[in-house]
Amino acid sequence: MLLDSKSPTGPIEKRWEDHRFHLKLVNPANKRKYTILVVGSGLAGGSAAATLAELGYNVKCFCFQDSPRRAHSIAAQGGINAAKNYHNDGDSVYRLFYDTVKGGDFRARESNVYRLATVSLNIIDQCVAQGVPFAREYSGYLDNRSFGGAQVSRTFYARGQTGQQLLLGAYQALERQIGAGTVQMFPRTEMLDLVVIDGKARGIVTRNLITGKMETHIGDAVVLGTGGYGNVFYLSTNAKGCNTTAIWRAHKRGALFANPCFTQIHPTCIPVSGDYQSKLTLMSESLRNDGRVWVPLKKGDKRTASQIPEAERDYFLERKYPSFGNLVPRDVASRNAKQVCDDGRGVGETGLAVFLDFRDAIQRLGKHTIKERYGNLFDMYQRITGEDPYQEPMRIYPAIHYTMGGLWVDYNLMSNIPGLYVIGEANFSDHGANRLGASALMQGLADGYFVLPNTIGDYLASNKFDKVENSHAAVREAESNVTQITRRLLECKGTRSVDSFHRELGKILWEDCGMARNAAGLKKALSLIPPLREQFWRDVKIIGGAEELNQTLERAGRVADFFELAELMCLDALERNESCGGHFREEYQTPEGEAARDDANYSYAAAWEYKGVGQPPVVHKEPLTFEYVHPAQRSYK
Ligand SMILES: Cc1cc2nc3c(=O)[nH]c(=O)nc-3n(C[C@H](O)[C@H](O)[C@H](O)COP(=O)(O)OP(=O)(O)OC[C@H]3O[C@@H](n4cnc5c(N)ncnc54)[C@H](O)[C@@H]3O)c2cc1C
Repeated sequence: MLLDSKSPTGPIEKRWEDHRFHLKLVNPANKRKYTILVVGSGLAGGSAAATLAELGYNVKCFCFQDSPRRAHSIAAQGGINAAKNYHNDGDSVYRLFYDTVKGGDFRARESNVYRLATVSLNIIDQCVAQGVPFAREYSGYLDNRSFGGAQVSRTFYARGQTGQQLLLGAYQALERQIGAGTVQMFPRTEMLDLVVIDGKARGIVTRNLITGKMETHIGDAVVLGTGGYGNVFYLSTNAKGCNTTAIWRAHKRGALFANPCFTQIHPTCIPVSGDYQSKLTLMSESLRNDGRVWVPLKKGDKRTASQIPEAERDYFLERKYPSFGNLVPRDVASRNAKQVCDDGRGVGETGLAVFLDFRDAIQRLGKHTIKERYGNLFDMYQRITGEDPYQEPMRIYPAIHYTMGGLWVDYNLMSNIPGLYVIGEANFSDHGANRLGASALMQGLADGYFVLPNTIGDYLASNKFDKVENSHAAVREAESNVTQITRRLLECKGTRSVDSFHRELGKILWEDCGMARNAAGLKKALSLIPPLREQFWRDVKIIGGAEELNQTLERAGRVADFFELAELMCLDALERNESCGGHFREEYQTPEGEAARDDANYSYAAAWEYKGVGQPPVVHKEPLTFEYVHPAQRSYK
């Protein structure tokens, strides 16, 4: 299979404009003749659905929550990047492009990243026009703060609720279209299969989560903005409902899954406190603007933070990376936290935590300023841990947070299945092997507001779409597939809960395909997952029936898909014999313990083709070339 990225050539700053010019257009009067199915109403899906409808297309939008407002995007705390250079501190589109390619450890497409940096400027204007209440300075200008992997302040924010405010902006744009009758919204509706006819994506099969009713929706193109799959690890910072089902089932219909092992571990999360915990909580990266990360110099030091004098503290990030200090990128910060804990210098009861200390910032700026900047995060920390972070340092530890892998897409955001577009965290596109903080919101909104609305018209204008009846063999086959999965799950009548299987799977993945990986561990995981998957299908216990509200059934379907995905992640990690970004293979590191890439052999995106459950998938490679930012060992020193 030839992977055509459709990545333009020529001067990088002109590529998107030139490409856009050469895309075919759909006449405004013809747009309403096309129906586009948008699955997902988070920042990516919501912004896409609203914009496509504004352009005149007929849109059907689906989400599994009761309202688009509850998409996981609402949880985003810290901010959104844009190269506005309001601080006049040396930022530019080129610098954002450079930081992102370097931050992703040279495993992303240059053309995509440059476009993302360019479009970042429009996103802020769009959101401000919508009324998104970004923080402002005294003068009234929009304020910025810094995030990891950058030496400029380019992160726009709305306290610690940036995702919520951006989502409200996208949501009101979506509601406007719902009111105008151009978007038909289907909340509490889960996509369970993709309908492919004559090689093109033409529809989806859904289950109404309240009544259990199965339905097929036919359209001229399908857009998946269904978010990331970090919950495959069971414990993650993602909302509990986040899952892989939409993209995994599209993968089983032929969509290639790229770089599945590229997962991001976020350095600043509230540490795990016990075996029965079901969720981890992020403490935003923005806290590292003012918080200092440290551990005791001595191993096994059990004194409280205030009892440890300055001279006996190790501010290890500031010591090792003086240029970037506490704001090194996430992969680097996480790995270093793990190293000091492995070295016996972790803090707290489990020893699996480091301090994030605001003492100096409070002394310098006053409690009021810190409260104004991070008040809701401090409150959240206090409610969960019972400790007051204004008085004593937070204890934090890395946790699974984001997935850079996802369905393979070309420059137009179309997967290898014609008519199937994938946007936001669900695709693999712009972040390479490590996403920089505050760049996910930027990418989701770039895709939804600015990229997809331009590119999808080219496909629609270039193809003919026959009317599809629900009696079509492909529709029947997809519906029967969904029915069979549901029936099989309900007929198990086993003894173990869905969560117990999920927790066991997550533990295997975290231990052997988590923050550090090695060949032996990955092979072990690959020997443990298939028997556990088979046991799941024999012994899972689901109460209730198919034609009613049944959340155990919903979760079981998602966990079934996680099992298959987990195997692919381990295989992908095993095949990639190098370290890059968040993919840290212990065998491949520099003498200083940094990720050692192998550009000669692994400068590609690995796009996997599904061949059946338990069958070896086939890998296709999209070579990556770097004309502008030349691959080098990343240094944040
Ligand atoms: C705690 C936390 C804080 C974060 N903070 C930041 C930040 O400050 N800055 C930043 O840039 N990034 C941040 N991120 C990352 C960012 O929030 C996400 O990457 C981004 O919001 C994903 O948006 P999305 O639209 O792709 O997916 P989501 O917001 O997850 O939306 C997915 C949508 O798809 C729907 N869906 C999924 N599957 C199906 C299905 N099978 N059928 C029907 N509908 C389906 C859901 O209902 C939902 O509407 C944070 C992430 C976390 C976990």
